[in-house]
Amino acid sequence: MVAGCQRCGLCQGRTQTVFGEGDPHARLMFIGEAPGADEDRIGRPFVGAAGQLLDNMITAMQYARSEVYIANIVKCRPPRNRNPEPEEADACLPYLYRQIQLVQPEVIVTLGAVPLRYLLGRQGIMKTRGHWLEFRGIPVMPTFHPSYLLRVSAAKRETWLDLQQVMRSLGKDPGATPRPRRGAP
Ligand code: URA
Ligand code: SF4
Repeated sequence: MVAGCQRCGLCQGRTQTVFGEGDPHARLMFIGEAPGADEDRIGRPFVGAAGQLLDNMITAMQYARSEVYIANIVKCRPPRNRNPEPEEADACLPYLYRQIQLVQPEVIVTLGAVPLRYLLGRQGIMKTRGHWLEFRGIPVMPTFHPSYLLRVSAAKRETWLDLQQVMRSLGKDPGATPRPRRGAP
């Protein structure tokens, strides 16, 4: 069980673990970085400002949040929201591998540089986003993290292109999505 986990030092600063949530048979899985302050307090992934933007992204993709699965590279909040260290990611990744194995998503979307690095061993989100990769046979689309989109609004355009590729791969027609509201990707 992840709740009492002490496999890395991040256990010391957490209020609670944030395992992940969603449809256990989701076709689509999102993988973020780590819980932030809101997630640490509430115990659920992506419930703060970045989470609202992720919700908009999911809606634009014609899914309900409950239909997808959402997880992070590490399950405990790093101090001051710093990025997880390699040892912390290594310690925590078995939980994520298990989540992927159980859910068996058809497509994974990684959000930002941290899951790109730790799940796929790749650097360079700017060049890699929008290009299909693979994890254990599952197609992976790397795109920007919603926190980045909150700071760099112009990057929403590329993100929407990436998400449209994912929609098509899942048999959805991006043209059928009503033009996202201002503020949505
Ligand atoms: N950012 C993440 O990467 N994950 C969360 O759960 C919340 C914010
Ligand atoms: Fe355990 Fe992961 Fe939390 Fe580290 S981050 S204590 S490995 S649950």
